[in-house]
Amino acid sequence: MPVKLYTGKGILEKHKEQLAELGGRCVVITGKSSAVRSGALADIQRIFEETGTEYEIYDGISENPSVSSCIEAGRKAYAFQASYIMGIGGGSPLDAAKAAAVFAANPDLDEKGLYAMTWNRVLPTVLVGTTAGTGSEVTKVSVLTNSEGRKKSVHHDLLYPVLAFGDPAYTASMGRTLTLTTGTDALTHLTESFFSKKANDISRACSIEGIRNLIPLLEKAADHFDDLTEEDREIIYNASILGGMAIAATGTVFPHNVGYYFTEEYQIPHGFASALLTDDLLSFEETCGREYADAFYERTGISHERFRKLLRKVLPEYEIHLSEETLQDILPRWQNNGTVKNTRGDITSEEIGKMLRRKFPETE
Ligand code: NAP
Ligand code: FE
Repeated sequence: MPVKLYTGKGILEKHKEQLAELGGRCVVITGKSSAVRSGALADIQRIFEETGTEYEIYDGISENPSVSSCIEAGRKAYAFQASYIMGIGGGSPLDAAKAAAVFAANPDLDEKGLYAMTWNRVLPTVLVGTTAGTGSEVTKVSVLTNSEGRKKSVHHDLLYPVLAFGDPAYTASMGRTLTLTTGTDALTHLTESFFSKKANDISRACSIEGIRNLIPLLEKAADHFDDLTEEDREIIYNASILGGMAIAATGTVFPHNVGYYFTEEYQIPHGFASALLTDDLLSFEETCGREYADAFYERTGISHERFRKLLRKVLPEYEIHLSEETLQDILPRWQNNGTVKNTRGDITSEEIGKMLRRKFPETE
């Protein structure tokens, strides 16, 4: 992993010289309020003052960020002659910062060019996480919403940030629902990565360690949210980074991509949308040679039943009924899809259709 990642309380202050080395002009890319609410922006502004860094803030990034907002942010950085870009926030601002760095270095590029990867330079990016879920801090992936309203990711080695900071104290301002949606995203990364065809001993070790640590704390967050300690927050954050490292090596498998549809169509938050078919993924893996499924339960020490119970507890009951017509419309999405092909056991879009029919029957 080419990212220099630093984690722990007060971590930015300890590495301010490294920030100063990136040049004296920075555009900070963030959402409406998380940079302020988490305390990260105040820390950065203090460091910028000390190091004499000139900066501007672009705070127009929404959840599931649009390519157009990244173009706008990139143009701002280009006009400002920024020497680097800093993303502060959850996965949305971090992914937007990666894409904005491309547009800043290629001011004539448009959406089509971004996805066609007709570019080969970017501005350096620094990422400061404020949620504990996506692991975007350590991946070369930027998940954006295109002009057709579809979530579509860009993967490129140049999208790795040069520096990433994870101060778990910044995640303390997340309420129960956000802690659970983002934590569930981390759980699905760790789980999906384990069942990826590209999994290896190291990525699986990340998955196992992350899941062992994360599940008891998601259970605690669900049942006794107010009892979460600073240390618990740190463990959850670190598990999200392990998830990021795992998917950086393996990619995700089908539930993540199916989840994109439910975020686009029903605005289900990314973590919960990704978890809609996690239980089905486990059941599917149990039917296609028990070797990996058994190893998964044995090494995590978490049974399928405990997994299922946690998912039932955290996921809301969505009132969604998919008609046969809708299914025929959407299933082709998963006919030739990379995450479907990446799933161990060769799942087909017909099998995904069966899962969706069971979960969201046409009538009540
Ligand atoms: P998010 O979309 O970045 O943020 C969700 C909400 O949480 C926003 O309203 C945000 O406020 C708020 N928020 C963020 N930090 C907070 C804090 N510390 N305290 C209180 N509120 C806070 O959420 P996310 O789940 O982290 O990111 C999801 C996105 O990441 C999706 O687009 C997903 O597809 C993508 N993703 C990327 C990767 C990758 O490898 N690149 C992996 C998985 C998911 P603001 O509006 O102020 O920001
Ligand atoms: Fe995710």
